[in-house]
Amino acid sequence: MGSDVSGKPSGASGWASNHAWTVTLLVLLASVIVSLLVWHQLREQAREQASREFSLLNSRTVDQIESRMNDYKQVLRAGAALLESRDEISRETWRRFIERLALPEHYPGFQGVGVSLLIDPDALTEHEATVRAEGFPDYQVHPEGERARYTSIVYLEPFSGRNLAAFGYDMYSDPVRGTAMDLAVSKNVAVLSNAVTLLQESDTSVQSGVLMYLPSYYPGMPLSSVSARWRALRGFVYSPFRMGDLIAGTLGERDELVHFEIYDGLVTTDATRIYRSWQGSRPKHPEALQETLVLPLHQQVWTIRFYSTPAFSRTFLQSRGTLALLVGLTLSLLLTTVIYTLATRRQRAEMLAEKMTQDLRHTEQALRINQERHQLAMDSSSMGTWSWDLSANLITWDALLAPLFGLRSGESFDGTPGAFMMLLHPGDRERVRQELNSAAELRHEYDTEYRVIWPDGTLRHIASRARVLEMPDSNDLMMTGTCWDVTEKRRAQVMKREFVSTISHELRTPLTAISGAMGLLLGGALGTLPDAVQNLIRIANENSKRLLHLINDLLDFEKLDAGKLEFHFEHLDAQALLVNAIEVNESVAARHQASMVLRWHPANPVWLDVDAMRFQQIMANLISNAAKYSPPGGLITVSADISSGRLIIAVADQGKGIPDAFQDRVFERFAQADSSDTRRAGGTGLGLAICRELVSHMGGSIRFDSNDQGTTFYIDLPVVTDAPPTDTAQA
Ligand code: ADP
Repeated sequence: MGSDVSGKPSGASGWASNHAWTVTLLVLLASVIVSLLVWHQLREQAREQASREFSLLNSRTVDQIESRMNDYKQVLRAGAALLESRDEISRETWRRFIERLALPEHYPGFQGVGVSLLIDPDALTEHEATVRAEGFPDYQVHPEGERARYTSIVYLEPFSGRNLAAFGYDMYSDPVRGTAMDLAVSKNVAVLSNAVTLLQESDTSVQSGVLMYLPSYYPGMPLSSVSARWRALRGFVYSPFRMGDLIAGTLGERDELVHFEIYDGLVTTDATRIYRSWQGSRPKHPEALQETLVLPLHQQVWTIRFYSTPAFSRTFLQSRGTLALLVGLTLSLLLTTVIYTLATRRQRAEMLAEKMTQDLRHTEQALRINQERHQLAMDSSSMGTWSWDLSANLITWDALLAPLFGLRSGESFDGTPGAFMMLLHPGDRERVRQELNSAAELRHEYDTEYRVIWPDGTLRHIASRARVLEMPDSNDLMMTGTCWDVTEKRRAQVMKREFVSTISHELRTPLTAISGAMGLLLGGALGTLPDAVQNLIRIANENSKRLLHLINDLLDFEKLDAGKLEFHFEHLDAQALLVNAIEVNESVAARHQASMVLRWHPANPVWLDVDAMRFQQIMANLISNAAKYSPPGGLITVSADISSGRLIIAVADQGKGIPDAFQDRVFERFAQADSSDTRRAGGTGLGLAICRELVSHMGGSIRFDSNDQGTTFYIDLPVVTDAPPTDTAQA
């Protein structure tokens, strides 16, 4: 479970990822559905609202038409009243009357207002003669023909333009107009006619027309019955209307929200249509609303059919719904993004928590394993652990430690460093105290060995190693370490040392005697020996010398190890020491056909504080190695330089160098490069190990550089600056 190596989520986290996606998709789906529902709801509301608005607009249109028609009726009434108030009426009177009404200004849509007089057939000729006499010689009641009843449009204002065509027209002769006139008399009300083509329609853009009639009677006559009214009838005050002009005048400037058409009567066909508010074809659109209203109008019925326009839909439908949908979808997307972010953040947090839990589990496991290993190691090594809390100055130790100090388990000391010191051999107490303090102060690793005297008097050697820790919270220091018993190891070392030294001493004495005897033989103490014998003796002598050399090295080493090698430090002239080293080892170099040279660079005398014999032992070893590995005729250069207050002595040869693989082990005991060359050169492999110990005892260090062109060993020793040299400068 958790993350795999590629970091991709797997297992539970994979499930979490799917879960996050599912939640996000569900939220997206739900919010889109809600948006659509809201959008739909809003559209429904908008539709209802639009439909109300549409009806309102239509009703207003109808009201306007109705109200304007009533206005016209009032004008006709006024005209009729004027007629009835006088016995005679002149053309001029009528003109002024109409002029006073300022029709175009107050009642736009009027084509005109006129008087159609009723003429008895007997009086027709006289009537025509009278009107002709008024200055209209062409006047004639038309159409011609015999009729029981004549009417004629005598006055019509404005008496100009289209209206002149109607002058003298007998409207009663036309069935449509005649029917309206009959109705006006029989009901004694204003009556609107059905659609006609007005006589005023002279040009090509013919509009449908209607006429409104109001009967006008001679004053003082009874009007109670239809026949009485006919007898009393003087004529009709009337108005012709061109439908287009009428609607334009009635409704004025309209915004194009609604189109409508008006039908004469209840039947809606092309034939009955008397008005259409649009030109050309009506634009179709999906949201179109439609309404049909019937308008009863002065004994007439108009059917008006309304249609909403695209502009109406844009104004009342689209904006709200579309905006709501856009806002809804945007909110859905936002919500989805937020949910996704939250879901994945939670998922990431869960993954992180899971990983941290795993890490913790691993750490706990590792800790547990480590503890177990540690315990096993401690159990099998009889190693005890201890801690010294430096701020509390208190030492605590575990149960394994008490036996190392000769205490029974459970038996302890009071934990103070002072009490601990009392467990140590008196000869080691001060040293250990200093070592502990210095390690604590410098935060160094503490690594030491001391003797312990048990309560029963047994002497034991204890090794101890510790580190200083800084506590993370308090910055307090804590030294924690281990102790283990090294008594047996020390005993074995002593025994070995004693064994080696005993054997070496036992070997050295007879070997020296053998070597001396052979030297005498070779020196001719017994006269000249035959060549073959001389050769054998020489080989035996060389080998016994090598053996002696080995034994001396071994003894030196054991002494160094046991700290028993004694040094006699003196202030000595370094240059003199090196000149001496060259002289003494000249023969060794010569034996290997190598020559030697000393290059002394320091400007002033240099003094060293060294043991002369041990210094020469070091030089002899380095020069003999250089000679052994020099090619025939090679040059061994011994040089000296001062650097940073130290004398650097270098012994360089021109040999093949130390093999790379061996370079790390050059200073180890008995270490020799495993090559035929080395074997041939002989040696013990102890020389450089001894050199390093000796140099270190004299406060110096040793190192080397080697390549296939040669090897250079460097010793650097501290230079004595202040102390005066002793007399015994020379070794
Ligand atoms: P040994 O007695 O064998 O010379 P050393 O400790 O003096 O012992 O040298 C250890 C080994 O280091 C030698 O056996 C040799 O392999 C290598 N060695 C030391 N000095 C040189 C040198 N100048 N050139 C090449 N190899 C060297």
